[in-house]
Amino acid sequence: MIRRKLIAGNWKMNAAMGELDAIADTASASSGVDVAVCPPFTYIAAVKARLPGLLIGAQDVHAEAQGAHTGSLSASMLQEAGASLVIVGHSERRDQQYESDAAVRAKAQAALRAGFTTVICVGESEADRDAGDALSTVGAQLEGSLPEELSDGLVVAYEPIWAIGTGKTAGTGDIAEMHAGIRERLVARYGPAGQGVRILYGGSVKPDNAAKIFAIPNVDGALVGGASLKASSFVPIIQAAAG
Ligand code: PEP
Repeated sequence: MIRRKLIAGNWKMNAAMGELDAIADTASASSGVDVAVCPPFTYIAAVKARLPGLLIGAQDVHAEAQGAHTGSLSASMLQEAGASLVIVGHSERRDQQYESDAAVRAKAQAALRAGFTTVICVGESEADRDAGDALSTVGAQLEGSLPEELSDGLVVAYEPIWAIGTGKTAGTGDIAEMHAGIRERLVARYGPAGQGVRILYGGSVKPDNAAKIFAIPNVDGALVGGASLKASSFVPIIQAAAG
């Protein structure tokens, strides 16, 4: 099955507005690839106003539509600002905001119901990998975080925690094994339609390793942190995905 590659830049709590024009130019020249930038919430509307053609993502969403949830934003609020993609369950939120699999699933379901491309992040710690538990850890996260029903916008991002922001990347054999394992679980859960779900790799993707990673079966793009903050590093990653 052909799956369109998706390259999503996660700015985290950083701003890179000065890089946007070059990124948007490359995105529009790379017609075979979906390109998203996920700035902090407060920049979403400004990015949308400046570059209406660019796919804009949020870094989190609340599961409820409204209510007494100080500091949170609902899917419809993000949509109103201009976002159409959302990242849920990033390991930094699982760790720093104590988000459980059940909370991640509730957020994913709310985002998918609202029509968002919804990137659910999973990934093992270094201790899990060293203990030989990487596949079972990620399997359990998928079991707890995936929505009950498959919707069109569902995307999974495999991000080994030890590779995020460290300059270390998983070996190509380990990435291939994990992505194949995730694919198997998606098909077991959703049937043949699970073949259509995109699986991104994330963890120190850079211009010099992107092409090698994108050539691995079942790698349908990347979630990119640090390298998405500069057009000089994000653009070559988009170009590597475009082939
Ligand atoms: C991320 O935070 O999702 C990520 C992959 O970061 P980096 O590319 O910096 O490792």
